[in-house]
Amino acid sequence: MLSVAEALHLVLEHSHAKAPGEVSLADAPGLVLAEDIASDIDSPPHTKSMVDGYAVRSADLIEGRARLIVTEEITAGAVPQHSVVSGHAARIMTGAPLPDGADSVVMIELTNMFGANVEIQDANFRSGQNVIPRGQSLRQGETVLRRGVELGSAEIGLLAEVGRSRVQAIGPVRMAILSTGNELVPASEKPVAGQIRNSNGPLLVAACRRAAAMPIDLGIARDETDELHRLMSGGLENDVLVISGGVSAGVLDLVPRALADLGVRQVFHKIRLKPGKPLWFGVCDSALPTPHCALVFGLPGNPVSSLVCFELFVKPAIARIAGRHWEAPHATQSAKLTREFLHRGDRPTYHPARLVASLDERLVEPLGWKGSADIRGFVGANALVVFAAGERQYKPGEAVEVLVL
Ligand code: AMP
Ligand code: MG
Repeated sequence: MLSVAEALHLVLEHSHAKAPGEVSLADAPGLVLAEDIASDIDSPPHTKSMVDGYAVRSADLIEGRARLIVTEEITAGAVPQHSVVSGHAARIMTGAPLPDGADSVVMIELTNMFGANVEIQDANFRSGQNVIPRGQSLRQGETVLRRGVELGSAEIGLLAEVGRSRVQAIGPVRMAILSTGNELVPASEKPVAGQIRNSNGPLLVAACRRAAAMPIDLGIARDETDELHRLMSGGLENDVLVISGGVSAGVLDLVPRALADLGVRQVFHKIRLKPGKPLWFGVCDSALPTPHCALVFGLPGNPVSSLVCFELFVKPAIARIAGRHWEAPHATQSAKLTREFLHRGDRPTYHPARLVASLDERLVEPLGWKGSADIRGFVGANALVVFAAGERQYKPGEAVEVLVL
């Protein structure tokens, strides 16, 4: 059986960035930019006021005081009609263009109106105050974003500012999800004898969204070859197909055989991992006329096994397909146990845990988790503690390796 590291290596070897496509800004959050972006404007496009107040010539103020004739009112979006000449000022609003002749703005709070005149008393007046010069943040023709950056809120705002309502970006990664099992009913139904609700479908949709991929939920397949073929072949038209259940050694574990029938080549089956030993991974045979070379993950049916395998293998694959090459898969960190812990197991175990905030050291609390079917025991987990195979009593304060979720 492969180790987790060997299996991850194989997964990443088969995970390639998608070809970029054009997306609107509404669809761009979380995607990786696939072009350099140059600005088509100066920003700000005109020298502008930062406050509501009066645009003045600094030479007209003596120790911050002056009485000036107000010539016009300039609101944001308007264009000044007059130059400010000596002895005059213009009422100006935040963001409005500074009129010629003026070089500073005095805040409204430091002024009083007397008919058509304004009296200014600004003890801290400095020439040039409250003014942003044209092009201060960026210049026309300047490259403002480089390919490879992940598009977050600030990047999207900047793209809008420089007039890019559509951009070339990678993704989104499309991930089809198929839950298999004769025993499964949807969450909206009450199970009868022998049945359980489908936890993995919604769990994997959520995990997929959190990994910034687009879930396509194919629902529940019976443990029956024709139904598996039909639903899986639709799923293979996406970047990733994730199937839960049916990959162990039971009589109705038909998934690997059904995938082989569809031309999906097995890369590995079963790894030295707890929970998640039955994990199956394969790729579409590139000789087949499929539109994509989908990656296929057969996750074990127990919900915690499915979630751990998603975190360990599917998430890094999604990051690669999305072009997020900087994302280090499985960069574990060291933390100290908050309490003693007895670990016993024949495989390396990824135990759900909670990292606790602390000023000077990273502390981790293993949760009271009862095994691969116990998704409740995973609630509140924000990390996995990696315990080596074997039996060992860990002491409080002992350093362990953790994978942050
Ligand atoms: P399997 O991998 O199909 O052998 O399933 C292993 C265990 O996980 C069995 O107890 C199944 O009933 C359970 N299981 C399988 N699929 C799901 C699912 N979608 N939601 C919750 N439990 C599941
Ligand atoms: Mg099953």
